Amino acid sequence: MPSLKSEVNEIEGVGQIKIDVPFGVKFVSSYIFEIDNKTILIDAGLNSKSWIKIFLERLKDLKKTIADIDVCIITHSHIDHIGLMGVLRKKNPDAKIYMHNITQKILEWETDKSNLEDIEQQAIKLSHQFTRYGLSEDQRKRIVQFFTYWPKLRHYQKPDGVLHDGNIILKNLEIIWTPGHSFGHICVFNRDKKHLFSGDHVLSRITPHIGNFMVPEFITKQYNNYNFSNVLDQYLQSLDRINDLNVRVIFPGHQEIIYNPQERINQIKDHHDKRLADISKVIKDKPMTPYRISKIHFGEDLDEINSFLALSEVLGHLLYLEDKEQVKTIEKNGQILYYS
Ligand SMILES: [Zn+2]
Repeated sequence: MPSLKSEVNEIEGVGQIKIDVPFGVKFVSSYIFEIDNKTILIDAGLNSKSWIKIFLERLKDLKKTIADIDVCIITHSHIDHIGLMGVLRKKNPDAKIYMHNITQKILEWETDKSNLEDIEQQAIKLSHQFTRYGLSEDQRKRIVQFFTYWPKLRHYQKPDGVLHDGNIILKNLEIIWTPGHSFGHICVFNRDKKHLFSGDHVLSRITPHIGNFMVPEFITKQYNNYNFSNVLDQYLQSLDRINDLNVRVIFPGHQEIIYNPQERINQIKDHHDKRLADISKVIKDKPMTPYRISKIHFGEDLDEINSFLALSEVLGHLLYLEDKEQVKTIEKNGQILYYS
């Protein structure tokens, strides 16, 4: 097992624990701070023995132990943000774990073994949609593997409370529902200090992946006023909400702490505007599958996972343009071609 790099910092009373994770994002940050005489932990890292061991070590650097944690807030359901929940529950049964209502429902659904078949059926349905977007049969099969693999890695702890948009906890912490990167994603805003714990909603160097492909049907029915066909638009609306808060410092789940929140938010918006314009240009009077467009836009030499992420990124923008009636589609040989 290669040793994981880690680092501890303190910024305006907020302790940051950075630890490597074996993904493209390189490391994940958890944050620990006090408010109303309680110790709060934002996000719970990765569920691996070595990761957790290092986390417990680094807590000591902040003169804390796991027994000191009163409240743990999870920003979203991805495996690099929920890992410690089990250990926390076991070592400190008094700690309260909170997550958004949707995150709770999705995690509960995904980790219930009796839903495995359901999950596979949904993955198969989704994969067929992707062949209509231009993927080959081999690639389709691997999509099914991909979408059935991740849920198996997740572990679920029943939270002590579920959160909703606008909830205020511990007098000063406001919960902001920010769907986009993940449907149940929340940011946590310390209104007093104007600190925003942004999870993966705002990052310092990359634009977060917009993805909501595997939302269980019972959730989409329950949230039927949410526009699932235009997740990018929902993400951009979530960004505007953050922009309105007058945040001073953003503490993200990955990458660097952000001291120029407005500027960073504008950069992310500009990035999406540019990508929308670029994609429209590529398909001007030239109908193409989303897969073809992604190859032109991101190049041919991506590995499998990155070429899927590239497709997903392009698709998010195409669905946005389609929803705004700025592109059209035609069907040809069972595939969907977009053009502007
Ligand atoms: Zn993450």
